[in-house]
Amino acid sequence: MRTLVFLALLYLAWRTLRSKFPTLGSSTPPKARESESREMVQDPHCKVFFPKTEGVLLNDSGTERYFCSEACRDAFLASRTSSRP
Ligand SMILES: [Zn+2]
Repeated sequence: MRTLVFLALLYLAWRTLRSKFPTLGSSTPPKARESESREMVQDPHCKVFFPKTEGVLLNDSGTERYFCSEACRDAFLASRTSSRP
């Protein structure tokens, strides 16, 4: 009978632990996405490096360009269009 009580207590303790640390029961957490989101890109206009996810994306006829701000994107487009008559 004591063994049953011990097992019940053990089960309760395990449940409490799992609720406090949800990662214990699950498989390995996905880390690949984290490194992907921390990829650094360079602003082609002001040459500043910043995380890809925080940039402003411009689809430049098939080429994806990332800018640190919309102002840089607009300036890049303006300077390019003015240099090309
Ligand atoms: Zn910039």
